[in-house]
Amino acid sequence: MTTIHKFVSLKELHTFRLPYSAQAVIELTVADDLVALEDDYYVLGEGSNTIFTEDFASSILRVAITGYESYETESSYELRIGAGENWHKLVVKTLEQGMPGLENLALIPGSVGAAPVQNIGAYGVEAAQFIRLVEAWDRQHKQFVTFAQSECCFAYRDSLFKQQSGRYVITYVSFSLPKSWQPNLSYGALSNLSDAVTATEVMNTVIAIRNSKLPDPAVLPNAGSFFKNPIISRGYFTELVVRFPNLPHYQVDDHQVKVAAGWLIDHLGLKGVTCGGAAVHDKQALVLVNKDNAVGADLLCLADTIKEKVQSEFAIKLEIEVRLLNNKGLISI
Ligand SMILES: Cc1cc2nc3c(=O)[nH]c(=O)nc-3n(C[C@H](O)[C@H](O)[C@H](O)COP(=O)(O)OP(=O)(O)OC[C@H]3O[C@@H](n4cnc5c(N)ncnc54)[C@H](O)[C@@H]3O)c2cc1C
Repeated sequence: MTTIHKFVSLKELHTFRLPYSAQAVIELTVADDLVALEDDYYVLGEGSNTIFTEDFASSILRVAITGYESYETESSYELRIGAGENWHKLVVKTLEQGMPGLENLALIPGSVGAAPVQNIGAYGVEAAQFIRLVEAWDRQHKQFVTFAQSECCFAYRDSLFKQQSGRYVITYVSFSLPKSWQPNLSYGALSNLSDAVTATEVMNTVIAIRNSKLPDPAVLPNAGSFFKNPIISRGYFTELVVRFPNLPHYQVDDHQVKVAAGWLIDHLGLKGVTCGGAAVHDKQALVLVNKDNAVGADLLCLADTIKEKVQSEFAIKLEIEVRLLNNKGLISI
């Protein structure tokens, strides 16, 4: 049953753990309850990509719809999963049940419902490759809708649900995992694995790499990559690489190149730099951490400092990957 709690601390509801609260938190467990809910809320999953920089003046809708249905066809395993299920648990469960495909996406924090929003990706794989359908409540037209994969406008860390932020509440996501499985070892750190590797071995390798590189939010509060890897024109990249021959990059298409935001920040010597209680992680420059009881202003000051320095040295405008909220809703910096 959907429940409403008044004046709730948000500290435990987002992984950056800033000390703010919301007027109310609605715990949504039944999709049909959306029809009758007063439409004045911000949608939240597990809060691993969301940072509250102030007390939030309205309600938070926490999507906690559970459910795991599966069946197989001749060529694929088909799944329909409640948006409130945990993503990593889904990855583990599919592998335990002999359904490979999601192993490269192991240990990405967050809920299944948030996975299509920014089209989560890691180690050469994106969720969009496996998503077949997304079921959602359309807040604008007040009706339930179902999107086929091709209608979701998936791109790098992007989708229809992100472009029309706040319009859809995702309730269920359906995945199709082809039985003709091949490991995806295209990402550098996985390329040492043999082609005979099993999906579980790939998952365990991904988990080990992630644990060695990324701070665990339960130990050191953070929201993963704070900035997106910027995409620049091939022409500008050609100029830049003369000055910075070691700049890690990835060709997006004939005209665009994606460069590593973490390298840009690291190159400026910003690892470990702090503003109040917020800091650039000392091992992974793309991750900002709540090192010592940070407040929203500390984080915004740190993010501004990084953006200004990257702009001035590389003439590249960094964009944030996380969702930042002030007391009214999403903000951009
Ligand atoms: C340590 C760490 C590592 C990470 N590594 C990766 C990585 O490798 N790759 C990657 O892609 N991401 C990564 N992330 C980011 C994060 O894991 C993903 O963005 C994840 O999908 C967020 O899930 P969530 O449930 O916590 O989303 P939230 O933070 O709760 O929400 C994120 C956005 O999705 C919206 N949303 C959430 N649920 C729903 C819903 N049911 N319906 C509609 N909108 C919804 C919210 O409104 C918000 O805009 C990392 C984060 C951390 C902390």
